[in-house]
Amino acid sequence: MKWILTVGLVVWWANTNAQDDQREKVRQAQEQRALEQQRTNQLWLDSAARIMERGDYALADKEFRNMLASFKSVPSELAFYFGKNSYYMGQYKQSIDWLSKYIQLKGASGSFSAEAADFLKKSETALVSARKEQTRNAIEVFSRDFFIDCGPTGKVICPVCAGTTVIIRKGYLGQNSYKTCGYCHQRGTLTCDEYNKLIRGQLQPEKTP
Ligand SMILES: [Zn+2]
Repeated sequence: MKWILTVGLVVWWANTNAQDDQREKVRQAQEQRALEQQRTNQLWLDSAARIMERGDYALADKEFRNMLASFKSVPSELAFYFGKNSYYMGQYKQSIDWLSKYIQLKGASGSFSAEAADFLKKSETALVSARKEQTRNAIEVFSRDFFIDCGPTGKVICPVCAGTTVIIRKGYLGQNSYKTCGYCHQRGTLTCDEYNKLIRGQLQPEKTP
């Protein structure tokens, strides 16, 4: 009886081990595929950026839009390039949207933060003067329709309270009132999912007393 039990246990153990092995192999294969996909995406992004740099903005626009349609989540670099190229395409609202997104994601420390701020300003100025004669038919695409990749930390400084966890409101008489930010649970940051919900207007604020 004891012997049967032992054999049974060994068989069960071998079986579970084989299943674990199988699962591990599947996981590794998925990881490998994801890495390759990332590498391909990066090459595509780099080549489109070069197209933009040599001044072929219409072609670059096409490439960036194709990327937006096919990437699972939008890397911050793409947000920057598309925002910059949109300025050259005269699509200022779209440019402002994507450059702001890049700045939100990267703060002041991103590789393109200074350039993003520069083009953001240019687009804002251009938008004011272009508003009257804007007759363009091109369809603009905005970041809220895409899943934004928040980078390896998976976190973003809460854009509502700028990471302070407090929202300051000016009263009529100039006195300030302070309210706890309802979005970031007093952390000052949002998870990537929360951030993506926020930019779609789908993140419900916590009820604060
Ligand atoms: Zn907040």
